[in-house]
Amino acid sequence: MTSKPIGVAVLGLGNVGSEVVRILTENAEDFEARIGAPLEIRGIAVRRVDGDRGVPAELLTDDPAELVGRDDVDIVVEVLGGIDIPRKLVLSALEKGKSVITANKALLAEYTGELADAAEKSRADLYFEAAVAGAIPVVRPLMQSLAGDRVNKVAGIVNGTTNFILSAMDETGADYAETLAEAGRLGYAEADPTADVEGYDAASKAAILASIAFHTRVTAGDVYREGISKITSDDLETAKSLDCTIKLLAICERIVTAKGKERISARVYPALVPLEHPLASVNGAFNAVVVEAEAAGRLMFYGQGAGGAPTASAVLGDLVMAARNKFYGGRGPLESKYAKLKVAPMGDILTRYYVSMQVADKPGVLATVAAEFSKRDVSISTVRQQGSGDGARLVVVTHLAADSALSETVASLEQLDVVVHVASVLRLEGTTV
Ligand code: NAP
Repeated sequence: MTSKPIGVAVLGLGNVGSEVVRILTENAEDFEARIGAPLEIRGIAVRRVDGDRGVPAELLTDDPAELVGRDDVDIVVEVLGGIDIPRKLVLSALEKGKSVITANKALLAEYTGELADAAEKSRADLYFEAAVAGAIPVVRPLMQSLAGDRVNKVAGIVNGTTNFILSAMDETGADYAETLAEAGRLGYAEADPTADVEGYDAASKAAILASIAFHTRVTAGDVYREGISKITSDDLETAKSLDCTIKLLAICERIVTAKGKERISARVYPALVPLEHPLASVNGAFNAVVVEAEAAGRLMFYGQGAGGAPTASAVLGDLVMAARNKFYGGRGPLESKYAKLKVAPMGDILTRYYVSMQVADKPGVLATVAAEFSKRDVSISTVRQQGSGDGARLVVVTHLAADSALSETVASLEQLDVVVHVASVLRLEGTTV
């Protein structure tokens, strides 16, 4: 006897939604066998219902709210994008006890709290594996596989566009603007690339990762953020000479402050990464996330961080879980927010800096520059002089120091007569010295 079908509403038929529908349709029997009941698509919400959309026309609707409210819809898959419209739709689904699968990091990074509360109240599932790093399973490992461990750090490359640009600049020596234009032509950058290149997308993902890793609500506004638009081909050249490359990193870390308080840090910025570090060899549009947990040690997750089919894979994994919960009764894990750790300001975080400055070529320059570092207890690891005359450049790499002391040092260097200008400042990650 066939079990009662589980009704699914798919909101969105774009890059991700069309792959979700295709894979669900082509593998309907397998899904039924894995779940115990067939999945039936009750409707697909789009903006344009006319024309051939590659799905049965009777499934299409431009009224997602009506679709979500239908009695025969048990699970809602939200792959629309945006924040305000999906927020209302997801909330309304959860309030009606319907489980929700979403790939929407921008929504979650602002409203996980509100959505998780609604899910908890109505005993519905809220799953979002696809919202961080596309196909790569990292949300479920953090929430479930590592639920018995203590996660200390999650760091990774979670934005394919910026990784494509930085990898290409490293490989070709081309400058940022030229490489961004090429990324646009190849479909790796959107017409308005701001969310990617200025680090907003990575910050949303860092907020989600920090929340689940540290059992604390973290929103995108809590995440310190810098993008890659100021990275130059010279920076990548210098990185090479230091046996490093440059990556846009999302870093979520448990820290203990100088006063002994436990805090968390969530931050996104381009950083020098030593070539021997596992993240240095993650190139092109690929993503990778390294997790450090007390008992498990270091784990690395690597794969395709975006794209229709890879993202649909993560959405469908969540859909099978939510459907099994509907079929057998019960629900998946709830939001865990008991730790309520505070987020430390960026100034309190220990980092290492690389500072490249154009300097006057005269005696005493090095001593004057070094004095600015030592005044603020910042210890220098290496100093290099490149060139001479008007083009003389000094490249300083520091040991670990409070980020506030390092940024004050850079501000003071800019005021020195012997420093013509500070050309570039980057943090150095992946070392602990
Ligand atoms: P997309 O290609 O722009 O598709 C969006 C779909 O939603 C379209 O079918 C659009 O309808 C529909 N839509 C948008 N607003 C609507 C509204 N108000 N009412 C009805 N339908 C509406 O987007 P996508 O790339 O698939 O991304 C979807 C979500 O997945 C986003 O939250 C994104 O951040 C997330 N995500 C995407 C990727 C990826 O690689 N693309 C990876 C991870 C996560 P029309 O087709 O009629 O315009």
